[in-house]
Amino acid sequence: MPIYNFSAGPAVLPQPVITQIQAELPSFQGSGMSILEISHRSDLFAQVLQDAEQDLRDLMAIPDNYHVLFFQGGGTLQFTAAPLNLAPHHRIGLLDSGHWAQRAADEAKRVGTKVTILGSSAANHFNQLPTVVQPIDQSLDYIHLTTNNTIEGTMMTRLPATGQVPLVADMSSNFLGEPYQVSDFGLIFAGAQKNLGPAGLTIVIVRDDLIGQVANLPSMLDYQLFADKNSMFNTPPVFAIYAAGLVLKWLKAQGGLNVMTARNHAKAALLYDFLDQSQLFTNPVKTSDRSTMNVPFVTGQADLDAAVIQGAREHGLLNLKGHRLVGGMRASLYNAMPLAGVQALVDYLAAFEAHHR
Ligand code: PMP
Repeated sequence: MPIYNFSAGPAVLPQPVITQIQAELPSFQGSGMSILEISHRSDLFAQVLQDAEQDLRDLMAIPDNYHVLFFQGGGTLQFTAAPLNLAPHHRIGLLDSGHWAQRAADEAKRVGTKVTILGSSAANHFNQLPTVVQPIDQSLDYIHLTTNNTIEGTMMTRLPATGQVPLVADMSSNFLGEPYQVSDFGLIFAGAQKNLGPAGLTIVIVRDDLIGQVANLPSMLDYQLFADKNSMFNTPPVFAIYAAGLVLKWLKAQGGLNVMTARNHAKAALLYDFLDQSQLFTNPVKTSDRSTMNVPFVTGQADLDAAVIQGAREHGLLNLKGHRLVGGMRASLYNAMPLAGVQALVDYLAAFEAHHR
């Protein structure tokens, strides 16, 4: 029985990447040493880091005036790093689109940033994206938004007009899953453990004129320092960068982000079409705002939801339990989830429904 992993993160990785890691693990590139053992200052790793950056630049067409930085600390550390680096006047705007946006607001406030909510969909249980209140105060340092709301299952593909105020995007859960134009953003950050690789690595893409504005930041939070040191101020997460690098090469071999996006839309459509005609399952998200990455759905009865999840497990369909804040089920359909996995899920749900009507 094939196993399909619908985890929201850490999440499924491409099978060929896992196989390659396994094959290369004892001796990296004939060195007699594992990638787990080599120095981050070695030539071997220097090449890994350089390739990962270049492949990411190629895939996302990242302009030359943007730095690509490799951080640790997850998306959560960037909730602190972004205001410290990019908000010299301590005033930001934020779109309140769900749990992770609120966590970003909390962390910004902890470092003395005034956070103005420019739109909220809290009253709609975050089942749709917030509408941005215009006009936007042009003296804000930046505007924080979450391109994909992992828990609530909404995704932003059209960006709000913000005039001269830079956008800062938490792209953690649809990084490389949708083809955004980097130049629309001042800063993009994303934890790797959803669409890119294992946990322990966070990608930061930042426009060069926005950094270096604030002196004496804590070193591990200083974008300028990381840019100056080529992400090697201290020991970077060597294994996570290596594994992410393999995923980037896999993405290129698949045909790049347009191919992946088309596949992601086809996978999501398969599941949404099923949910929309179902008499048992519902997805509560406004159609135009639905995520292609994370699809929450419910039966409306907690005991039935539990039975769905249990039965799914027995069919090799794993990690479908919804986030504890919203309950029900959630299927995450990141790049490495094949269409066959979504088809298996839909077949299972249809059979479950037929049995329980
Ligand atoms: N932002 C979003 C949109 C997320 O989904 C997550 C993790 N689920 C985070 C931030 C936090 O990421 P991390 O656990 O890497 O700190």
